[in-house]
Amino acid sequence: MPQTTPHLVAASRSGPEPSALPRFATGREAALEMRPDQPVYCFRPDVLAADAAAFLAAFPGKTAYAVKTNGEPMVLDVLARAGINAFDVASPAEFAAARAAAPGAELFYMHPVKAQSDIRLALEHYRIRATALDHEDEVAKIVRIVRALDLDPEDLTLFVRIASKGEAAYELSRKFGAAPGHAAELLQRIDGLGIRCGLCFHVGSQVEDVDTYARAVATAAEVRDAAKVPISALDVGGGFPATYAVDPRRPVPPMPPLGEIVGGLMGAVERHGFSGIPLVAEPGRVIVARAFSVIVRVLLKKGQRLYINDGVWSSLSDSWTGKILLPVRHIPDPARRRRPGRADVMAPFRIYGATCDSVDVLSRPFYLPESVDTGDWIEIGHIGAYSLSLRTRFNGFYPDTFVEVTTPFDAGEAPDGFAEPERRGSVEG
Ligand SMILES: *Cc1c(COP(=O)(O)O)cnc(C)c1O
Repeated sequence: MPQTTPHLVAASRSGPEPSALPRFATGREAALEMRPDQPVYCFRPDVLAADAAAFLAAFPGKTAYAVKTNGEPMVLDVLARAGINAFDVASPAEFAAARAAAPGAELFYMHPVKAQSDIRLALEHYRIRATALDHEDEVAKIVRIVRALDLDPEDLTLFVRIASKGEAAYELSRKFGAAPGHAAELLQRIDGLGIRCGLCFHVGSQVEDVDTYARAVATAAEVRDAAKVPISALDVGGGFPATYAVDPRRPVPPMPPLGEIVGGLMGAVERHGFSGIPLVAEPGRVIVARAFSVIVRVLLKKGQRLYINDGVWSSLSDSWTGKILLPVRHIPDPARRRRPGRADVMAPFRIYGATCDSVDVLSRPFYLPESVDTGDWIEIGHIGAYSLSLRTRFNGFYPDTFVEVTTPFDAGEAPDGFAEPERRGSVEG
């Protein structure tokens, strides 16, 4: 049955109208009541607020939520009410979305390669005063606009993005970042223009290795020492990991908790003499992943293959690119009397997406009971990051149905995709 959430009613005092989405206790209740043939996104505002609060509590600097991870107004509104007052933005649409949700928030324009007209819009209209770069030609583009607008260079902080190496599901230093020697030159150039110097890095996404941030901070210190100019801020980027599922056939060491990762980072900040200056982080995934699940339907079962009504061109490309194993819950259709296979034996199923494209196949299986069948639903958890924001209209499929759910996806009995030790023995394949 749909439920009301006291939290949302209370929270609506200062923010916009509470969302008018249909509300359910669990994804299972939503699926059984709606019997949806299209994917349904289950938004969990309380989980989002809790995960934002957890990051704010763990990280001692300024938290700038990375809007690209999930820029839905319903997400930004909840974050603003949860106390997030800074946003990492990369485009005019993101400037506008962040401002609409949090008019007083500070915006960090951390895209290192920008259109001249976007830089102008950022500085003039949105009054953004912090941006990133990794090349001298970008400095020239920015300076041209600073002069045209007659801005005080002292009001501006230019963060030099340094290339960093790490172990992440995504390695972004291949695309952006200056090598240490080059970064030091850029700092000297910026300082010479009377503009404030910052240093930033982004170690990738889903970083589960505690030392990655410490290594990047060490590189930042090396650059600072070589440049010999005052550094007024250090931005440690995003990359903090979210929880997903673990492959029962290939168990890996458990993911370090956020406190441990931030602890390792802060230790390095102190060791390398960055303690005195303002720190910024740009978390995305760790804040928003748990806030959404998506209910999908099994369109067809062919042996160990399941064809579903979502896929890499809709909500699930991140699991494909990042080789992420998603936690799932089987929601059997009660209208089905007889089913194949056993409900108590878990098996890996290869997941085929809704489009006719042959690459629309997930890179990782779903672990589900053998008895899963055509017409059943699967609730895929922790898909709040890089899911809806990457939807396409390819082949005419565009999931756009939302409900609100009050219970966390990972509450209660473990999801089917979570490998519990006692279940490992019965997994086949
Ligand atoms: C994508 C991105 C982020 C957010 O990364 P997460 O892994 O989601 O935390 C932060 N900073 C920059 C520069 C990014 O490109």
